[in-house]
Amino acid sequence: MRDILVAGNWKMNGSSTANAELMSGIIAGVPEGSGFSLLVCPPFPYLASVAAQAAGSAVSVGAQNVSEHQKGAFTGEVAPSMLSDVGCEYVIVGHSERRSLYGESSAQVAAKFQAAQAAGMTPILCVGETLEEREAGTTEKVIDEQLDAVLDAAGVEAFGTAVIAYEPVWAIGTGVTATPEQAQDMHRHIRGRFEALNADIAASVQILYGGSMKGENAAGLLAKPDIDGGLIGGASLKAEDFLAIAHAAAQN
Ligand code: PEP
Repeated sequence: MRDILVAGNWKMNGSSTANAELMSGIIAGVPEGSGFSLLVCPPFPYLASVAAQAAGSAVSVGAQNVSEHQKGAFTGEVAPSMLSDVGCEYVIVGHSERRSLYGESSAQVAAKFQAAQAAGMTPILCVGETLEEREAGTTEKVIDEQLDAVLDAAGVEAFGTAVIAYEPVWAIGTGVTATPEQAQDMHRHIRGRFEALNADIAASVQILYGGSMKGENAAGLLAKPDIDGGLIGGASLKAEDFLAIAHAAAQN
């Protein structure tokens, strides 16, 4: 059985003071039990302090982005080794905001995925369709292309130490959540693609749902057989909201 991962993407929010308060609230309220883990992904400047606060707790720390390069003349970029150096265990790659606002191609996302793994971190690969793509009936094609870019570059075995997040773009930050059935259909499709390539990886890879997940809808989503957690934006910014999802995971 796969563990559930509840991952918070803080995006470009927070401050030293607000983060410390958020982290103490989360750490103090981690539910009892097993079979789930918690992760927070703060902005770059706060990674080291949040990781220091998380040390020894049940909460892991990840980054929201990473350079595909190792070092050198890449002004404004952050190398994979720097992230692992300050305590990151995970890195989100290919978030739809990176793809749409910063023009990251699927090839670049694949390079970031590999760079994160080479530095010993677990990439969380985001895939998802826009509303136009869903309405045009191309959802599966879009997801397949996003997955194939990484599968072609890194190989299926690389997903033995990776997480996938299915994030329909139309549900991110909109308050509109995919129904558990809509999400399950896509998670099944994604796992099915892996089943055709490597049964062990298909059975073990965690596939998170992202898109307006919150305390009120988490239990319904997590009850689905192929949904192994959540990548959570808005509801990860308040300890109470994030912990409501953690409790749904603990009770699943
Ligand atoms: C996200 O940013 O990955 C996300 C799912 O955001 P939200 O939960 O706010 O929709």
